[in-house]
Amino acid sequence: MSDIKDPEVLLEVINLKKYFDVKIGLGRKNYVKAVEDISFKIHKGETFGLVGESGCGKTTLGRSIIRLIEPTSGKIIYDGDVIFDGDKRKNINMTAYRRKMQIIFQDPSASLDPRMTVGEIIGEALDVHKLFQGKLERKKRIDFLLDRVGLNTEHANRYPHEFSGGQQQRIGIARALAVEPEFIVCDEPISALDVSIQSQIVNMLEDMQEELGLTYLFIAHDLSVVRHISTRIGVMYLGNMVELGDSNEIYHNPLHPYTQTLLSAVPVPDPEVNRNTHRIILEGDVPSPINPPTGCRFHTRCPYAKDICKEKIPEWKEIEPNHFAACHIL
Ligand code: SF4
Repeated sequence: MSDIKDPEVLLEVINLKKYFDVKIGLGRKNYVKAVEDISFKIHKGETFGLVGESGCGKTTLGRSIIRLIEPTSGKIIYDGDVIFDGDKRKNINMTAYRRKMQIIFQDPSASLDPRMTVGEIIGEALDVHKLFQGKLERKKRIDFLLDRVGLNTEHANRYPHEFSGGQQQRIGIARALAVEPEFIVCDEPISALDVSIQSQIVNMLEDMQEELGLTYLFIAHDLSVVRHISTRIGVMYLGNMVELGDSNEIYHNPLHPYTQTLLSAVPVPDPEVNRNTHRIILEGDVPSPINPPTGCRFHTRCPYAKDICKEKIPEWKEIEPNHFAACHIL
């Protein structure tokens, strides 16, 4: 990892950590290590998929990257500019980057203010960044955005509760698009929606990416969803990145035992293939991030765990070209 500007890289995350304080009684406190020492790059125009079970820290990582929550330490570089530096504690003004970096939330109903009309919700984003000259241009822009996400211009006067979940997510997308961003964190944008409309939203996000040259961090708990939309995939377990590689490589040649178990849980449509597939069952829940297992965080559930796995944190290594993992047996 380096500070030298690479024209292909939009975002670089270096040794990022996010710990939350938790009280454990009698005035004592501990930390939830939601994100532990994560480093990776996102290239311009790509979709970087981030997967892992609930509670693995992927949402915290996504929000830390755009500084919706403040990281504990590490460094974030956006298009060559340092936007967070835990060592220097520089007070970096995010106003200019707020416009460039947007987020689409998992639960569209909770992310839209129920007291505001759809036009007000989208218009608020335009107002904050003063992206229009006069009322007419503002209205035209709102109408354009509603049309862009497949809604009618009359919808501008209605309230969020009058819409279905899929339509609410379209409103959330229009709000994110309003400021003409370059980078969007898509935080499980389809997991709260009916299966029948999930693909419509994914297709729309892909069309927008092609048309507007957007870069996405696409967060999901299901590898089969991320596989289709992503250029590369990062797999997280208990606050750590355990594997990173091209989407097809991760899907067809998973190296880390955790990725193998995640893939093993993905149903295969062909019953013949299904019968012949060796399934690895992942037992138990994700351990508590307050008191994570020693050594490799996955050792309490890993079918291949050895003694060293309990004692030593595995090193992050490039196992094959552009295919990284952290595991003692690789
Ligand atoms: Fe399993 Fe050990 Fe590899 Fe961790 S380091 S994934 S416990 S084999």
